Amino acid sequence: MRHIPAVHRFTTDPAIATYAPLLGPGAVKAHVQAELERAREGFNPEAGFDALRAAVLERLSRAAAASLTGVINGSGVLLHTNFGRAPLSARALDAVRSLGAGYTNLEFDLESGERGNRYERVSSLLCELSGARAALIVNNCAAAVLLVLDTFARGREVVVSRGELIEIGGGFRLPDVLAKSGATLVEVGTTNKTYARDYRNAWNANTALFMRTHPSNFRMSGFTAAVPSSALTALARELEVMSFEDLGSGALLDMTAFGLPAEPTLAQEIAAGFDLVTVSGDKLLGGPQCGIIAGRADLIATLTRNPLLRALRVDKMTLAALHATLGAYADGNPQELPLYAMLAVSQATLLERARRICAAILERAPFVSVGAVETFATTGGGTLPDTQIPSAAVAARARDGAEALAARLRRARPPVIGRIEDDRVVVDLRTVAESELPALIDALVGALTHSV
Ligand SMILES: *Cc1c(COP(=O)(O)O)cnc(C)c1O
Repeated sequence: MRHIPAVHRFTTDPAIATYAPLLGPGAVKAHVQAELERAREGFNPEAGFDALRAAVLERLSRAAAASLTGVINGSGVLLHTNFGRAPLSARALDAVRSLGAGYTNLEFDLESGERGNRYERVSSLLCELSGARAALIVNNCAAAVLLVLDTFARGREVVVSRGELIEIGGGFRLPDVLAKSGATLVEVGTTNKTYARDYRNAWNANTALFMRTHPSNFRMSGFTAAVPSSALTALARELEVMSFEDLGSGALLDMTAFGLPAEPTLAQEIAAGFDLVTVSGDKLLGGPQCGIIAGRADLIATLTRNPLLRALRVDKMTLAALHATLGAYADGNPQELPLYAMLAVSQATLLERARRICAAILERAPFVSVGAVETFATTGGGTLPDTQIPSAAVAARARDGAEALAARLRRARPPVIGRIEDDRVVVDLRTVAESELPALIDALVGALTHSV
């Protein structure tokens, strides 16, 4: 029988050992043993150490790709749902680490020694930032919309403009959510034009609410008309129906300060008179996945009595991360949030970074094809469609084509995800942190020289 190398020769191999932090040393050893078992059973009779090592690395690479892992997002999409949307700030991560590690006063009032309110602290910060009288946090914005409709519109009518009957993504379609909550959808207006009289004509004694959906992920242009927020809420008050806006993208700041198009903020929509507004926590707000419902105190109190809230409840880590995220706004320092830090970097700085990366790659691999290029990043995540943010990228070309190169980059550790353009892989630096650049260079050198 052929000599099969010992397990420890593999587990101490530097390339194999790099998988231990991600997969755990026990799992790495199990993969080595499984591959050696195959060799022993004669599946791989010619294999020496090098061939077995390559087979083990292939196995580990597949296992790593299947695990939940950090990636270098070179897509240039700042809020990519597939990549987990907004990265969290250091302050949010610290809060999660310290509050997640032990017990907390999550639902305990330290003054009275009695049961406290889980949502209280973060709600008061939200009210301060938005002008709302009360707020509630649930799992995501889709859950927020469902809770509002289930509480106030079950068995009644909800009036929505035809131009706002949107699909958000991931199969979240407004008409379906309305149906699920037991409300009846009353469409008014036409696809491109809806007037205040359309809402008025649709009104009857069974109307629960006038609902507006912010078309976060598409734009209507040309021959269009919509009712301004303040006119819609005034009409709702006159007819004594509730007004509710699903704002979605959830900006707390004037986006034009970051070179982006104007986007209605939560404070503006509350000021425009909506009784309730829902937003997402991990879009333009730049925090953890959650949904925020802000507005009238009596309506928020009614929402808290809906048993459905129990099923949509967020945990201490989400609340800790959201509170810390909102703290950046309260302190007037939004650039503490990675989203706004990434938006604030100039294109010139990114181009300079791209050139430095290319120089570093060519120093190690003189014959590969890489170059610094100007490009455009986007916000993504169902926000600000058609917005092009000037950016810079590293464009790489491989002899075996862009698809093969992109696949090798996805197998790097950490995986690198780029866009394919003109048979090149383009890694947009707008969404890559400075701390990730050494790993990005390693991955590009490896993928371009096929040694990943
Ligand atoms: C994104 C979005 C949602 C869904 O938000 P999630 O937090 O992803 O559930 C709902 N409504 C609007 C208008 C959105 O843009």
